[in-house]
Amino acid sequence: MPPKVQYGSKGQTWHPDFIAYMEFVAAHPSYAGMPDAYTDENKIQWEAPSNRGSGRFKDTHGRRLNWWRRKARELGIPINTDKWISKAAKKLHPTGKKPCKRCGRMMEIRYVYPRDLLLNRVRKLSCIESAFKLDRLEHIVALVGRLHGQYGRKILEELPVVLRASGVNVPQFSSLAECLEWIEKDYIPAEPSVLSPGAMSNAPDRFDGFHSFNLCCRGVADTGRHKDNLSGYVTDRRVFEYWADGDWIAADRLMGAIRSGLGSEPCTRGHCGPCDADHIGPISLGFTHHTLFQLLCKSCNSAKNNRMSLSDVQHLLRAEAAGANVISWHSQALWDFRKNSVSNDETALRLSKLLRDNRHSFMAILRRIERAGHYAFLLSLLHLDYADFNVEFQGLEVVEHLTRFVAEKRKKRTTKYALEQKARRCRIALESLHTYFKKKNRNEFVIALPETELATIAAIAVLKESPDEVRKLDKQIARVMKLRKQNAVDSGFRRVLRRIPIRWPQQFRIARDSLGAAMAAVGEKLSAQWYDERYVRAEDAFD
Ligand SMILES: [Zn+2]
Ligand SMILES: [Zn+2]
Repeated sequence: MPPKVQYGSKGQTWHPDFIAYMEFVAAHPSYAGMPDAYTDENKIQWEAPSNRGSGRFKDTHGRRLNWWRRKARELGIPINTDKWISKAAKKLHPTGKKPCKRCGRMMEIRYVYPRDLLLNRVRKLSCIESAFKLDRLEHIVALVGRLHGQYGRKILEELPVVLRASGVNVPQFSSLAECLEWIEKDYIPAEPSVLSPGAMSNAPDRFDGFHSFNLCCRGVADTGRHKDNLSGYVTDRRVFEYWADGDWIAADRLMGAIRSGLGSEPCTRGHCGPCDADHIGPISLGFTHHTLFQLLCKSCNSAKNNRMSLSDVQHLLRAEAAGANVISWHSQALWDFRKNSVSNDETALRLSKLLRDNRHSFMAILRRIERAGHYAFLLSLLHLDYADFNVEFQGLEVVEHLTRFVAEKRKKRTTKYALEQKARRCRIALESLHTYFKKKNRNEFVIALPETELATIAAIAVLKESPDEVRKLDKQIARVMKLRKQNAVDSGFRRVLRRIPIRWPQQFRIARDSLGAAMAAVGEKLSAQWYDERYVRAEDAFD
C-alpha cells in the first residue's frame, strides 16, 4: 500500500470527497493521456495554472491545452467556435457531478441552480408566503416540485413568468410531470441566464476542466482567484467611469470583505443590516476609491445618492488628517478651497453640488484629450499597476460603523486575472468619455476659462511630442475602441496592455501637470461661487 498522499497546504485542507473524486477522474479513461497527470511523489497534478514561470511543470498548462484541442476534435467540437473548451469539458465529464473542494458538497455541472433573479421572481408571486424558504443551491427541479407541493396547480400558470429567459420559450404546462420533463429536456440544456452551473468550467486550469470550488463556496473560498472574482467584478463601475484615484484593488477587496461577512453590522444611521460599503466621499464627486468605508443599509445608501452630509465631510477630514488620500487629483483644488467651509448639512450639500460641476469640467477636458487621440496618456491616469498586487487585510473589523484594519499586506501577482481587470478598467473608463455626455438629463455646467483652455491646449501639444512607440500605441487603442463587442474590446486591451512600457514618457508627466493647472483654475472659479444661488438653494434635482 503506497503512503497516503497529502493535498492542500497550511490550514487549507481539501475535502476527502474531493480527493476521492480526483482519484476517480485521474484514473478514468475519458482523461487518458492527460499531460503531467502525476508528480514524482505520485501525487495527482490537479492544477495547471497559466502563470508558472519556471520548474519542471511550467509547460503543463500549454500541453494540457493541446490535449483539450485533440479531445474536442474527437468529440466533434470545432475548436474555432466560441467556448469550445468548456463545451468539451462538459461533454467529456463522466458523471456530470463533482464535489466541492472546500465543503464536499456534490453539485451538477449543468445549469440547474436558480440565480437571484429567478428567486426574486418566485418571492414576488402573490401566493408565496414569506416563510417559504428559497435557496440558490436547490436544484431547479426540486424547487418547482416543492412549489407545486405547497401551492398546487396554480403554480403552473406562474411558471412561464418565473422561468422566463432570453432565447427560451416557456410553454404553458398542464401537469407537473410535463413541466419537469420540459425543464430536464429543453430548459436546462439551453443554459438559461436565470440558472447557474454548480461548477464553472475553466479548462485547462484544472484536471477535469472545472473550478474546484462549487457554487456553494464560490466567493467565500480561500484562494486568490475566488476572492478576486468576488471583489473584482463587483467593482463599482463608477470608480472607472469617473477616473477615481486610489488603490482600487485594495478597496475592492475591502468591499468584498464587507459583502461576504462584515455587512451584518448595523447601519451608520442606526438601522439593522445587512449593509453595504459606502464610500464616505462619493466616487462620482471626485473622491478616491480607498480603504475606508462606512456601513449603510440599502435604503440609506440609495437615499444618499451623491449628497454628502456634515458627518461624511467630517469623516473625510479626519481620514485626511491621518494621512489618507481622500480626493482624486482632478478634484483636489476645489476640495482644498472649500473643505473647511462645511459646517452643517446644507453646506455639505453645497460642496457636493460644486464638486459635481467640477466633474463636468473634468470630463469635458478628458473628452478633448480623447478626441485628440492620446489614448495611452489617458490609460496612464488609471493606476493600472495596482492590479499587479494582491492585498490582504489583517485584523479587519468594523468599529462605530467604519472599517478598520491593523495592516495591509501587498503581494506581487502576475495572473491572467490581473490583466483581465486592467482591460476592463480601460474599456469602461474610455467608454465613459462617450456615454457621459450622451446623458440628456444632466444639469450641465462646464467651466470654460481662458486658463483651462490654454492648459488643455498645452497638454495636447506636448502629448504630440511623445515618442513614436507611444503614438503607435495610441493608434492601436483607437482601433480596439472601435470594436463592437465587449469581449473583443477586452481582449484587444489585453493585447495592448502586454506591450505597454513600464515607464511612461516624460511628456505624460508634463501633460498631467498642465491638466492639474487647468483643474486648479476650475476649482478656484467654482469655489468663488460658494454663495451663488445655484449652489445655495436647499433642494434641487441632483444627479
Ligand atoms: Zn462548497
Ligand atoms: Zn440605514
